[in-house]
This record gives sequence, C-alpha cells and structure tokens, in this order.
Amino acid sequence: MAQRPKSSKIAPTLFKATRNPAPREKSSIEFDRKRAFELVMDLMAIPGSSGHEAAVASYITSKLRQAGAPAAAIRSDTAHKKSPIAGQVGNLVFRMPGSLRGGRRMLMAHMDTVPICVGSRPKRKGNVVQSADPRTGLGADNRAGVAVVLNTALEIFKRKLPHPPLVFFWPVQEEVGLQGARCARVRLLARPKLAFNFDGGTAEKLTVAATGGYRMQIDVQGVAAHAGGAPEQGVSAIAIASLAIARLVRDGWHGLVEKDGRTGTANVGVVRGGLATNVVTDHVELHAEARSHDAKFRGQIVSAIQQAFRDAAAEVRSASGKRGKVRFDGRTDYEAFKLADDDPSVLAAERAVRSVGLKPIRAVSNGGLDANWMTAHGIPTVSLGCGQQNIHTTSECLDIAAFERACQIALHLATDVE
Ligand SMILES: [Zn+2]
Repeated sequence: MAQRPKSSKIAPTLFKATRNPAPREKSSIEFDRKRAFELVMDLMAIPGSSGHEAAVASYITSKLRQAGAPAAAIRSDTAHKKSPIAGQVGNLVFRMPGSLRGGRRMLMAHMDTVPICVGSRPKRKGNVVQSADPRTGLGADNRAGVAVVLNTALEIFKRKLPHPPLVFFWPVQEEVGLQGARCARVRLLARPKLAFNFDGGTAEKLTVAATGGYRMQIDVQGVAAHAGGAPEQGVSAIAIASLAIARLVRDGWHGLVEKDGRTGTANVGVVRGGLATNVVTDHVELHAEARSHDAKFRGQIVSAIQQAFRDAAAEVRSASGKRGKVRFDGRTDYEAFKLADDDPSVLAAERAVRSVGLKPIRAVSNGGLDANWMTAHGIPTVSLGCGQQNIHTTSECLDIAAFERACQIALHLATDVE
C-alpha cells in the first residue's frame, strides 16, 4: 500500500467522517464497468477529428451535469483561437473541490482523433472493440483516454468517494501538433501537484520522457528559363534541393543522426515543385523535421539542414552568375522533457499500477505528447496507457481489459491518499 504523501491532511470538516477510515480494499478501485464501457463506445462513435471536437465536449459536459456537476465548475478556454487550424472549441476543464486536503491532481486526455477515425462504428469482438466499417479507424486514440478520465469523475460522484482537489482536463487538437496543450490557459487548471495523461497502449506503461521536435518549411527559389532554348540562363530549384538532400545523406544528417554520442533524427518528408520538363524549375517547397531529446543537438541538426541548403544555393549558378535563394520557416513543435526519477507523479502512477496487480514500466517516447507541453508549462505530467492498439490505422482496436485496468488506475490516482 502506498505511503501517505506529507502534504495530504484530512480536512477538519470531514474529520468526523474519516475518524474511523475504512481500510482500503481492492473494491475501492472497483467501478461500474458497464457504464465505463458505454462511455467509451459512445465516445468512439462521435466524429471529432482535430478542430471538430464540439460534439465530444458537449457529450462530456452533459454526462458531468447529469451526475451533478455545477455548470460553473465546467469551463473551456480559447486554445482553438490560437491554433493555426482554428477549430470549433477550446480545451474543456472540470474542477472538483476536494473533500480531503492535499495537492490537486489532474487527469487529462485529448478529445480529438486522427481523420481516419471519422465514421467509426465501434463493435465488440470478444476482448477487443474494432470499427465495423473496415474503412475507418476506431478512435480509441484517444476516446479511450477521454472515457477513463470522465468515468473517474462519474464514479466519484456516484459513490461520493472522498478525494483531494481534482481537475479533469480534456484538451483539443493533440493530433495536429499538440495545439490544445500548447495553447492551454494554464490558470484554469489551478496548479495541480500531480498530473496524469491517459493516451497510450498497455496500462502498465508510464511514459516519463519524450523527445522534442522541430518542424520546418524550406522554400527554394530558382530562376525559370526554357529548358531547351536557354537552360544555362536558369537556376534549377530542384537541382539545389537535390544537392542539399544528397549532402545531408552523405554527411549523416538525414534519418538516424548520431554524432559524438548524441542522437536524433532528421527527415525531409515533403518535396513539391515543378510543372513541366521544358522549364527550369524556379520553385520547390520542402517540409522537414528534426527530433532529439537533446535540445542543443536538435538545434545542430536544424543548422546542418539549413547550411546544406544555403551551400547548395551558392553552388548552382546560371551562365550570367545568377543564383537561387533559400528561405526557412520553422518552429519547435514541442520541447523534450524527462521527469525526475523521484517525480511525485511518476511515483504515484507506479503505486497505482501496482495496486491493480501490474508491474509498472517506465518508457521514453520518440514522439510528442500533450505531456511535453504540460511539463513545459510547469506541470510535470506522466502519460499512461488506456488500451489503444494499432493507432492511426484501419486496424485500430481497443483492448477492453487494458481499458478497464486504466479506469482502476485512474480512480486510484484520483482518490488514494494513503
Ligand atoms: Zn493520442
């Protein structure tokens, strides 16, 4: 059984009720499995890709209101107005005052799905759920997380479970560059001391670190000329881009990048340009990214990419000495983070995982998570699994047992003060 954190005290008003606290039994993390399953089935069926989360937010809101949540405790912010894709609604926040004293805990899960999940028809097949429409994904990423978090609030209402102050947080637009978490009005979350993000596969996997990513657009401007009549008067943007990419590959700055014991990745993922073979191409647009857990090294990868394009632009000249130009437009998508080994959220998550009989595993992610931005906002956040499998594909499914364990873990995290 977990140790009582030093900060948690029983509120004097509740002293009477807790003078003879019932021993915490396994049943304290039991929950209404039928209700939780209905929630996840309903939520996965709601179309809601990034920027289209209004119906998901109103589903959550109506369930909370039916359970007795006061309207004033349910708030939303304007993150969508700061996001490049705009969107219907902002992040949804529900704060529950504590019946026990202690640091506030946050449970969160993003509301959007990737577009392939729009039209999902969730259907149970034995121990898993899949979409009955083979052309769609299921949307367990991340409606399973949404259901875990919502179920926790509903279970606490229904059983009047004692709990420290809580905040439930459902951000928008995770799948399009973590926009909801990035642009969140952090003040609404009321300074949680512990934070848990449900978004992932197996329930025992705790993601405690994730890489940082930088995304850039590269515009190569050449000089157009007739490819048959006067090719020497042109400057080919395609030639410049090709030379630059060739150099990145030759010098080890593309794909897996390893230099002096530091590692990262780089990828040119999009190349667009050219209209016809009889014209020297005057414009190419490229999209590239760099990732590394080491922010300084990530910066070096970005510099190497830029230098390769600048050098290539200097190398390709027309007969009259004209050269092309390159322009870069990029930004940090998300900063890398690594939670401390003794981070209180990590330790609490490990206790919760053990409480359901599983062995916690600490994992590092090579992709960005909402937790990257929450941690950057000063709220160190651990991410937990909730039964997702084969995400972002038409064979996506929900592992029902893992989903149910995540519900138990979440309930433990929200209510355990011992
Ligand atoms: Zn997700």
